[in-house]
Amino acid sequence: VNIKTSSSKSEAVTVIVRCRPLNEKEVENGHESIVNVFPERGAVELKNPHPNSHEEPLRQFTFDAVYDCNSKQQDLYDESFRPLVQSVLQGFNGTIFAYGQTGTGKTYTMQGIPSHVDEKGVIPRTFEQIFDHISFSTDQQYLVRASYLEIYMEEVRDLLQKDQAKRLDLKESPDTGVYVKDLSSFVCKSVKEIEHVMTVGNKNRAVGATNMNEHSTRSHVIFLITVECSELGCDNENHIRVGKLNLVDLAGSERQAKTGAVGERFKEATKINLSLAALGNVISALTGKGTHVPYRDSKLTRLLQDSLGGNAKTVMVANIGPAAYNYDETLGTLRYANRAK
Ligand code: ADP
Ligand code: MG
Repeated sequence: VNIKTSSSKSEAVTVIVRCRPLNEKEVENGHESIVNVFPERGAVELKNPHPNSHEEPLRQFTFDAVYDCNSKQQDLYDESFRPLVQSVLQGFNGTIFAYGQTGTGKTYTMQGIPSHVDEKGVIPRTFEQIFDHISFSTDQQYLVRASYLEIYMEEVRDLLQKDQAKRLDLKESPDTGVYVKDLSSFVCKSVKEIEHVMTVGNKNRAVGATNMNEHSTRSHVIFLITVECSELGCDNENHIRVGKLNLVDLAGSERQAKTGAVGERFKEATKINLSLAALGNVISALTGKGTHVPYRDSKLTRLLQDSLGGNAKTVMVANIGPAAYNYDETLGTLRYANRAK
């Protein structure tokens, strides 16, 4: 058992783990759970289902928080995400990632079931938090804008544009940093309006994909909310603060080689692995394990450059499944998340 103590933990990066329940099929087929979650001490224990292998029989990892299969969307949000969104309302940048093997609950965590009060995920809950905050503020004026984009094969697509065949370029300017040229953004004045933007983007995403399931496992999607706040200072001048919130549902982390990918599929696989590795390297460098932060290694990390590190806050959710047949992938995810602490 290796218990990892958090020595060089950066305040700016929080890593949490969420384990989904065994699904119906897994229960039907008598699959055993090999994951044990201990919320009180932030630990996850993973049992090795191959008793004769050279790997250790039991591994333990600790994180900022861990959530078992009974965890509620509301509790996750209040404990692990609400503070980050609060800091965005204060004018800081923030990023929330869902990382993990396909089928472990990334989309459930980020989107959930938007029409269902209890099963709403992070994204619709941020809408409520943001517009609640605005409705209670008296001395500030707010402007909320939303964009929605996808990175597929290192190409950026605007999910809110009519022409879904168009690819967008990343540009850099001295005052705004890295940005997506021609990315559309919509001013939203209510939860309803921003929900509508999300719905339109989700529909567009499905239109551009021949097989939505496969497509969604191979692309990163980012819902971007920009909150501009203007306030009259004691100097009688208007002061403007801008916070950016990136809500990221990452491509599946499963090792693609296992599926025997060839040709285009192999190229895709290489690019996914590259960008997830680049993200891992950036976060690891930010938490103090390196001096050079390699933002430029992928579109994803370049795009998020001003929302990772510096004054920005990051929460990474590592999603895992409990079944024994996912052992290798689950171990991979826990290691990735452990490195990001
Ligand atoms: P991913 O986006 O990582 O591929 P999904 O979010 O689509 O995975 O989840 C796969 C399935 O498991 C979905 O049917 C989802 O509703 C279900 N699921 C995932 N996490 C949970 C959870 N914590 N509780 C209940 N069901 C979950
Ligand atoms: Mg998904």
